[in-house]
Amino acid sequence: MTARDTIIIGGGHNGLVCATVLAKSGQKVTLVEANQALGGMAAECEFHPGFKTSLAQTLYAMPQSLISELDLCAHGLEISTESLPLVALSPSGAHQTVAARSLNGNKESDIKAYPQYAAMLSKFAGALAPFWERTMPRVGATGLSDLMTFGKLGLKLRMLGKQDMLEFLRVATLPMRDLLDEYFEDDVLKAALCWDALAGSQLAPRSPNQAVLTLLNRRSGKDGGQHAIPKDGMVGLIRALERAAIQAGVTIRTDCPVRSVQVAGDENGQRCTGVELANGEILYSERVVSSADPQTTFLKLVGAAHLEVEFTNRIRRLRTKGYVARVHLALSALPRFEGLDSPSGRLIIAPTMDTIEFAWDAAKYGELPDEPVMEVLIPSLHAPSIAPQGQHVLTANVMYVPHDLKSGWTPEKRDAFLAIIMDKLEAYAPGIRDLVLASELLTPADLAAQYHVTDGHWHHCEPAIDQLLMMRPTYEAAQYATPITGLYLCGAGCHPAGDVSGNPGRNAAKEILS
Ligand SMILES: Cc1cc2nc3c(=O)[nH]c(=O)nc-3n(C[C@H](O)[C@H](O)[C@H](O)COP(=O)(O)OP(=O)(O)OC[C@H]3O[C@@H](n4cnc5c(N)ncnc54)[C@H](O)[C@@H]3O)c2cc1C
Repeated sequence: MTARDTIIIGGGHNGLVCATVLAKSGQKVTLVEANQALGGMAAECEFHPGFKTSLAQTLYAMPQSLISELDLCAHGLEISTESLPLVALSPSGAHQTVAARSLNGNKESDIKAYPQYAAMLSKFAGALAPFWERTMPRVGATGLSDLMTFGKLGLKLRMLGKQDMLEFLRVATLPMRDLLDEYFEDDVLKAALCWDALAGSQLAPRSPNQAVLTLLNRRSGKDGGQHAIPKDGMVGLIRALERAAIQAGVTIRTDCPVRSVQVAGDENGQRCTGVELANGEILYSERVVSSADPQTTFLKLVGAAHLEVEFTNRIRRLRTKGYVARVHLALSALPRFEGLDSPSGRLIIAPTMDTIEFAWDAAKYGELPDEPVMEVLIPSLHAPSIAPQGQHVLTANVMYVPHDLKSGWTPEKRDAFLAIIMDKLEAYAPGIRDLVLASELLTPADLAAQYHVTDGHWHHCEPAIDQLLMMRPTYEAAQYATPITGLYLCGAGCHPAGDVSGNPGRNAAKEILS
């Protein structure tokens, strides 16, 4: 029997971060990943010979403090691009480009308003930033460190000044539509500016609650949340994380699915004793940290027999349905988007906020949108190694594609929907169809199967106001510890939620070490 302090389930980026922080503090850590490749939803996959990509492609949410703490640049992380601009594609060809602090827009009033909007977001994102990087206090907690977290949050907001603090409280739960209507006039621009608040969630522009909070969370990563692509693509980050883990002494086993978390019970309650692998091997450890999503962790790996009924019900009721489908195209050459010198930014196809809203309406009822909305990227422009020379990879995150299609997903439905998406792309990039060497559409159900994530959700479970902060994923497991002694969570289903930030992984490790 190997003496080990901790087993980490899942080698997504959060599992790797958690493992490395623990190992750097002297723990003996074994990480087991079900897939062959490390990285989870940020893992590299080859979808056509010579054409590679990963679901997560742009780095925006990871704080500089984590990159420095794990010394990721020394382990080979290189951010090869300048920040990627957001491009609001217009059906008329009058596209607009949004950079960190400036807008190349169509309306004078919008160009003037944009720096004020960006400054407002930066100010509020800065005030909230420390809270994504620490454990949220337990509801009703009275311990000194919990009270200090509350106190610091209050102080941070108070330090904004009275006027800004009131404005923050007003803005934080506004629907994105109301916020954008206050600042801007142009419909295409407003639709594009919604994207980063909504991507991956079950929300639309008119939805109240947490969209603005998600946007502020995303803007608190390195360089104010500007999107960049690592050298060689997101795999560049994953390789650096793997090297950091190995150097810290983590034992990594891939192609190694965990079948169950081993739990023993006595009069003192339930505690974990290790994991059983799919091949029947048992790995022993009194501490297991799962970066699998909460439903996988508790319902599949632990099992309801070891959990209280009320807790099991809360986990079962988590909203987990993915709303994002992914399109991959292998292209024989760079497509030409009419009206753009180069398609090198993040291109948003959503002509109005209502188009987004209508797509959401359809998805709510299990239907496909008539007019799909999407974020298009050509990552091979920034990471040439992911496609053969002169050829390109195009990806599209298509929002509001239901996991549970009412009429059921069939190969014919998939082909028909891909044809609608291709029509949309063809409208903006005439001739793109002729460049396609291979294509694939991954529905949320496909993502669930390939990446072992319940219902294929971008954040493992919806970052809704009732599943956020000290209630993420639910209040008995929101401080990374769970009702089973020795079992912790460290993935996107924990505070502060998904995206490639590493915050859940690092926060969980710090909580374990505290
Ligand atoms: C289409 C799409 C595009 C996205 N684009 C971006 C983007 O550009 N930038 C960004 O920041 N974020 C993006 N995201 C979100 C981001 O990818 C995720 O939020 C993030 O990768 C979650 O990381 P994680 O480590 O918590 O979990 P995961 O990446 O899901 O990793 C969990 C790991 O656990 C493993 N696992 C599960 N069960 C078991 C088991 N029983 N035994 C062993 N291993 C197991 C899985 O195989 C997986 O490797 C995107 C998501 C989607 C769906």
